[in-house]
Parts: sequence; structure tokens; C-alpha cells
Amino acid sequence: MNRVSLFLAVRPRAFMPACVLMLTLLTLGAASHPARAQRMIDAPKNISSRVSTVDDDNDYTRKIKEYTTETYFRTELVDHLPMSDKVPSPDKVLGYIVGTPNKLTYSKDLYRYYRELAKASPRVRVFTAPERSEDGKEQILVAVGDEATLAQLDRYKAITAKLADPRKVSETEAQSLIGEGKAFYWASGSIHSPETGSPEMLMELAYRLAVEETPFIQAIRKNVIVLITPVLEVDGRDRMVDLYNYRKANPGKYSPGLIYWGKYVAHDNNRDGLGMALALTRNMMATFLEYHPAILHDLHESVPFLYTSTGTGPYNAWLDPITINEWQLLAYHEIDELTKRGVPGVWTHGFYDGWAPNYMFYVANGHNAIGRFYETFGNNGADTMDRTVPQQSARDWFRPNPPQARVKWSIRNNVNMQESGILLAMNFVANNKERFLQNFYIKSQRSVAKASNEGPAAYVVPANQSRPVEAAEMINLLRQMGVEAHVADKEIVIKDQKYPAGSYIIRMDQPYSRMADMMLDTQYYNVNDPRPYDDTGWTMGPMRNVKTARITDKAVLEAPMALLTSDARVTGKLSSPSSSASAAGYVINHNTDNTLATLRFRLKDVKMAAAEEPFKVGDQQFNAGSFIIKADGDGLRQKLEAAATELGLNVLAVETLPTVKTHELAVPRIAILHTWTNTQNEGWYRIEFDRLKIPYTYISDQDVRNTDNLRKKYDVIIFPPLGGSAQSIVNGIPMRGDPMPWKQSELTPNMGASPDQTDDMRGGMGLVGVMNLQKFVQEGGTFIVIAGNASIPIDFGITSAVSIQEPRLLQARGSIFKAQFVDRRSPISYGYDETLAIYFNQAPLFRVAPAIPVPGEGGPGGGGGPTVRPSGRGSLTDPDIVQGMPQAAPTPSPTPSPSPGSVAVEEKLTEEQRLQLGVYFTPLTQRPRVVLRFSPDERSLLISGMLAGGSELANAPAVIDVPVGTGHVIMFANNPMWRHQTQGSFFLIFNAALNFDSLNTERAVPPARPRPTPSPADAQE
Ligand SMILES: [Zn+2]
Repeated sequence: MNRVSLFLAVRPRAFMPACVLMLTLLTLGAASHPARAQRMIDAPKNISSRVSTVDDDNDYTRKIKEYTTETYFRTELVDHLPMSDKVPSPDKVLGYIVGTPNKLTYSKDLYRYYRELAKASPRVRVFTAPERSEDGKEQILVAVGDEATLAQLDRYKAITAKLADPRKVSETEAQSLIGEGKAFYWASGSIHSPETGSPEMLMELAYRLAVEETPFIQAIRKNVIVLITPVLEVDGRDRMVDLYNYRKANPGKYSPGLIYWGKYVAHDNNRDGLGMALALTRNMMATFLEYHPAILHDLHESVPFLYTSTGTGPYNAWLDPITINEWQLLAYHEIDELTKRGVPGVWTHGFYDGWAPNYMFYVANGHNAIGRFYETFGNNGADTMDRTVPQQSARDWFRPNPPQARVKWSIRNNVNMQESGILLAMNFVANNKERFLQNFYIKSQRSVAKASNEGPAAYVVPANQSRPVEAAEMINLLRQMGVEAHVADKEIVIKDQKYPAGSYIIRMDQPYSRMADMMLDTQYYNVNDPRPYDDTGWTMGPMRNVKTARITDKAVLEAPMALLTSDARVTGKLSSPSSSASAAGYVINHNTDNTLATLRFRLKDVKMAAAEEPFKVGDQQFNAGSFIIKADGDGLRQKLEAAATELGLNVLAVETLPTVKTHELAVPRIAILHTWTNTQNEGWYRIEFDRLKIPYTYISDQDVRNTDNLRKKYDVIIFPPLGGSAQSIVNGIPMRGDPMPWKQSELTPNMGASPDQTDDMRGGMGLVGVMNLQKFVQEGGTFIVIAGNASIPIDFGITSAVSIQEPRLLQARGSIFKAQFVDRRSPISYGYDETLAIYFNQAPLFRVAPAIPVPGEGGPGGGGGPTVRPSGRGSLTDPDIVQGMPQAAPTPSPTPSPSPGSVAVEEKLTEEQRLQLGVYFTPLTQRPRVVLRFSPDERSLLISGMLAGGSELANAPAVIDVPVGTGHVIMFANNPMWRHQTQGSFFLIFNAALNFDSLNTERAVPPARPRPTPSPADAQE
């Protein structure tokens, strides 16, 4: 690892977002040649945006010029700042101009500036977002427009709200509102904390919009209301400024990467649009629904010099085509105007796809407005430095005006690019205000018409769900997005399907039908399309293990139903089959609703048992894993009733306890393990544990290194996915240079609020840590490794018989696949149906070596192809014929599927095999136990997303329980806690934890894998 990559947390995922990739690839220290001078091009004289009645602030203007490295990196829109004797420019409040080298501004100072601005100018107002950040900081919203406009802000909000819901407005009224209304143009800064320029730029933009008196700016103020979110990820911004200040105070030292951005999530904070687990996303959604902006414009920094979003395609197939046209329209306007002005490196297409709606700006795209973004060139701080542009400097069909290959770049250059571009877009929207409002209205109308036009008519979420709490949460998420949900008054019958009263209905004749449809529908991503930028499948029902039905028959809309006016809520209850109060105990069906795990920890002092098999009480069926609680005085009944009511669980009081075999349910001491190289994916685990009130200790790889008796402290250690090889994970940041603190200090006050701190981030768990983990497992602990982290127990020999295969053909990026339980006796499978939809992203492909080498499968740990016969007469299934010799009896076909760990294996071990294998034969109880496999049928494998080379994935193990000593290593190929979207698979983790000391239940005989068998009919012709 070189110095460069230390600037950022390494994020070696299957698809690294380019905005991180670019920064990682920077060769920051290597430059010495100044950028080759190019002929200066003045802005053409016919671009007349520069007739002003206000004088320039000469001092500020001089500094803009000084801090811009080349004249062609500024435009006449931003090469000066107008003077005001009433309204403070940023330097008056901050002490430095926007884009000053080596200066980054904390959020409190950004906010102070906007509040001073609002105090001095009637053209500016400041509002506070509904929720505070996870660190407790406020997020603000700034509005800029004409004085008269802002005085009537509520009127303009009412107009866009009416246009957003054409059911409530006549055509005549709508047209009059389009004439009267203003378009809201919403700019949001720095969701990605190492992308530092936009929070600075937006201050100057607000000032310029408030003060400048050119026709160009006046037009914006007149027809547009500009909304500014100064910094979206407030917590990450402040930690980034800390880090930058640390770097400046410690020149020549290695600097840590920004290991924590927000409390939970780093770079993926803009991938929360489908889960809304973060306060910032919920704030954005609420703000959209309050203002209905025509455009939401995110400011990112990665590729040079200004990429304006459209994407490579495939584009999201649920959007109105008008939206996609609008992306192109705005992008080409900016490219055209900036190219005319001689600005190099302004381009579109060729970056990001436009497919997945998980992006935060789907609060706009998914709601009939326009969500777009810039990538400008950032320096991950505020340094001025020589930069190399490796890839994007090539001219291409979509980039006739490429960036230069070598450039001296400053934060002021970045500010100039962002501000010039967004001003051009705002001016264009101002001059075409009615067009954009009209389009918004048409798109809203067409969303309402969806049910009767392209369909479907509705989605039904049946009331007879095994997981009512998750179903309700899914409905509430849709409601949070402004989607209307109804409840059926009585049974709905559609053709031969019946849905009981109480079923939820999401009608497609409503304004936000598109967002609901794209979330509930299934996705198909053609593998011949450009490489996806992120997930390719996201269907909400399967990921949450909630049944949904897509209904095309419009009759569903006529069913009697009532609009939900508050969140859906499942109230649990405690019931008795008879009136007797003398219950022997209580039973709770294991339905994998996640609140069942909450219950275990809430009543941690109550002894609970898990049934090892399904059972019945009266007519009622209970799944394996159901909770059985012995009566223990009146207090228990009340506690159970209170908890069940709140958690949406049904408790049944029974007069006699079921006679099923049980084991005690643990209250495990759980640790969630993180490294000091990357926290990208583990935060999504912490979010769920916090939300479900499941206690855990947050430990680092260094704690693992430094704790030689982990078993004394923890029962279960969960290691969420990280990426990288086993070696890179174990080694961590190299022990070079000085200690690298991530800690609160006078210079870095905001690091104190981080989830973890250390005096020195260097050095991972090391081999000592691996040995401590091995000891932990040997002594009875359960170590849960997700995705690529399974390479640690595999490569370092903690486990045996499991390997990771390199896929040759498989393409399965961020998709949803069908899996099936193959060992229903394993506690990990408790509560589930036979099949489960799981999220899987390309790797790892596990292979479990058979206990007995299977002829043709390449011996222990090898091969995997089908058994084949020698080349000879006939067909694949014909017996081989040796010429001129007596014919032996046909070779017996390989032991039919001695699937690893199955009971069958030991029974069928011949004396010959026992001799051959000797000590290498692994007894049954020590064999890896495959609990869940990808569907064996390649054709039914894909639920949503992309799949090619599915034969490699079909039947591959998804969840493996490997006994080690008296403990277990549990390996997941799927990621069961992904971006608050995979609620359906959370309980795989909870089951493993709650039953960590009872995982050695008797094994089930797995179903045989089909093999080609000779058919007698083929033997003779
Ligand atoms: Zn970004």
C-alpha cells in the first residue's frame, strides 16, 4: 500500500465506485512537471451574461484569479464577486474567500455563514431539516430567490404540490399554476465526505444569487427558487475537516484515510435510497415531499474535470422516458455552454449506468422530478497540486472535449467548475420554467394513468403472511416515500387468487406509482449491457421475505379498501386456548420476524427454549425453532404480553408444554468486528442491531490481536464483509512511519464521536489475531464470516474442507437469487420456509470437498465437474466396451451424492476407502454442514438482477456451518445484512447467534444431487 491509498479507506469491492477509485488511483506525490500551458482562450464576446449594475469586490475577485490555476478554468460567471455593503460575502464571515487553498470549513461555520446571509438579505431564508444526524447535528436547508417570491414561499410550495398530484387539480387550473409557479432547483453538497469542494462552493453560490444584478442571475431569481443543502453528510464533513487539518499539521507524515464518515455508513451513504436507514436520506425525502423540486442536483467529486450525469445505460426501466430525456437535455446544455467558453474536460455518458434506484437522488427521480449529479475533479482536501488524468483524458465519442492528461489543480478550479455549471443549469431552467413544470405535471399525470396504461394495476401484499411485522415495515417505507397504501376491507378475489381482508394494496393509479413499481417489481439486467455500476436487482418483497403479488387485472382497483392514514402497525397478543389461567408455559411460533430476536434480548433473564422440530398445539402449526417458555409466576405473563404486543408477536399460553425435543436459547454476548482499513459494509450491521435493540460490543481487529482470551468475553463474533484478500485483511495498514491516530484531539474534535478510536490505526489483527480467533472457536465460540472474509478461516487453516473457487463464467453482480435449505435440522434454518431469496454479489463461490473422493471429481478439494466416461462407442450414458476382452460388470456409478456431512457418508464408507483415507477421513461431526444452497436448478436461480454462467452458482453452498473444536465457523456466501434491504435473511444471523451453543443438532440427510444415470433403453439399439 503506498501513501496514496492511505488517504482513503480502501474499498476493494466487486464494483468499486469510480469516484473512490479515481482518488485511490491518484499518484499524488509523483508530480513535478507543471501542467503544459495551453493557449489561453477568452470567453467569446457574444456571451453576454456579464452586464451588471453592481460593482465587483476587487479584493475577492483578485483572489479568485490568483487561486485559479489557468484562465480556462474560470468563466465570466464566477471570475469575480459582486460587492454589497449590506450582505456579507463568505470572506467577511469566514475570514477567507471560497476556494482558498488549504482551507476547509466546518459545518458550524457553513451554517453560521448562511444564517448571517439570511439575516442580511431578504432573498435568503434558512430552514432546519426534520431530523438531526446520527451524531446529533442539524442539517439545514437554504432557500434563495426574489424577495417577493420568498415572501410567498408557501404559495409556491402549494403550487408544486398540486402539480405533483393531478388527481386533485383540473387541467385548466394546472395550466394556470404552471404559469404562476416557480421551479425549485435543489443543490446538495458533499454527501461523500472526501469530496470537499461543494460545501465551500455553495456559500458563494448563495451569495452570488442573492447579490448579483446581471440579467443572467436576475432570471434565476425571478423564475426559480434555489434550494441548497449545504452539506448532506454533516458528521462526515466535520470528521473530514478534522482529518485535513491533521494532515496539514503533520506534513510529511502518513495520514489516515477517512475511516468513519457518518456514524454507520461511509461511501454507501448515497445508496440508502431504497432503505432510508440514515437520517440524511429521510431528511431528503421529507424535504422533497414538502417542496416538490423540479430538480435535485448532487455535487460529487471524482472524475475530471466536469462530468454531468446521464450514464452509460441501461437506464432504469420504470422511469418515465421524459425524465431520461431531461437528463440529456440539461447535460448537453451545460456541455454546450462550457465548451463554448473554452473550458476543457466537460462531458457526459461514459460513467455510471443509470439503472439502480438505490441512489439518494431517487427522492427526485422516483417522484416524477429530475435527479442528477456532477462529478468534478476534487483533490480530497484543499491542496493545490499537479495531477495526472490517466483514463478520462482520452478523447472518445461521448467526450470530444476531454480533460488534459496533466494539470495543476486547485480547490478554486473545482469551485469554478461546479459553480459555472450549476449556474448555467439554473439559468436554463429559469428560462424554460414552464417547460420543466409542465413536464413534472405530465409525468405526474402519467404516473396516475399507469394502472390503466402500461400497468400493473396494483401490488397486493397479502394479509396471510408468515412475517406480518416485516410486511408492515415494508408498507411504512413506501409511505415514507409518499406512496399511498390501502387496506382491503374484505377478501379480494382476482381470477383464481384470493387475498384476505386486511391485505395491503399499493395502487398504481397514484402520483408515486413509479417508485413503488420499481421497488416491488423484479429486475432483469442483460449481461451484454455495460458493466453495472452498482446492484442490478433489488426487489423489495423477496429481499424482505414478504409475499407480494403483481396484479394486472384492473378489477383490483374496484375492491373496497381504505387509505392508510398512519403507519401500519402489527399489535401482538398473548392468548390462551382455554379460559384457564394456569398455563404451564408459552409458545411463540418462529416466523423469522426480526422482532423475535429483539424479544430474546429484551427478556434476557427469562429462560427460553427452542423446539428442535416442528410441532402442533391443537390445530396450530409451530415451526422448528419456535420459542417455548416455561411458566414462572405472574410476572412472566405480564412481561411477555407487554413485549409481544409491542413487537407484533403472538404468544400462546398452553396448559401443557409441547413434548418436542428442545434446547436452551442463549442470550449470546455478541461482538461485531471491524478493521481500521475499511468500515464500509459493517455499519449496515450495526444499524440493524441498534434498531432491533440487540446488544453487541464493537471491537476492532486490534482488539482481536490484543485479546488472547476472546472466549471469556464473547460467544459470537460477527465479521461483516470487507473485501480484499485474507492477507490484506489480516495485515491491515502497514507498520510504516509514525503512529497513525484516529482519535479526538484539539485538532480533531469530531473524531471523538466516531464509533471507535485508536492511537494507531496501523497493523491489522496479524497472525496473533488469527490465532486468537482460532482459539476462540476451538473453545466453543461462534465466528461468523460474511462473503470474502471467509478467506480468513479458510486460507489460514482454521477450517478445512471448504475452499473458495474462482468463477470462470459467472456474472452475478448485486442480484437476488433463490436458495433452498438443505439441512432443516440446523438451527440456522429455524423459522424459514423451504426456500429463501438471498442477496449475492458475484463472490465467493464456496466448495465443500466430499468426505470420500468421488471418482471424476478430482480428489479431495478438487474438481467439481460431472462424472464422465472415457471416449468410446455410443453416447455419454452408454457403458464402455473394452475390445477382445471379457466384459466386467459395469463400474458402479459413484456413490450417489455422498453430500458432505451427510449421514449416508459413514454408512457407505467401504473398507477399501477407509484404508485409503486413513486419518484424512473426517468424521461426520467434524464435517462442514451446508445449511443453505443456491437453487440447484439454474433456470430458477435468478429472482432479480443479472446472471450468466449460472451453472457455477447453481447448487453452490450459501451458508456453511463448519465445526471447529467445540465451536463453529459459519460462512455466508450471501450478505444477509445489506443496506437495510435484506430483512428476510437477517434471521440467518440471529438463529446462528441464539443457538450458538446448540448448533450440533443431528444432521439431516440432504437431497441427492441429480446425476446422469445410464438408462437400460440406451444400452441396445
Ligand atoms: Zn461521490
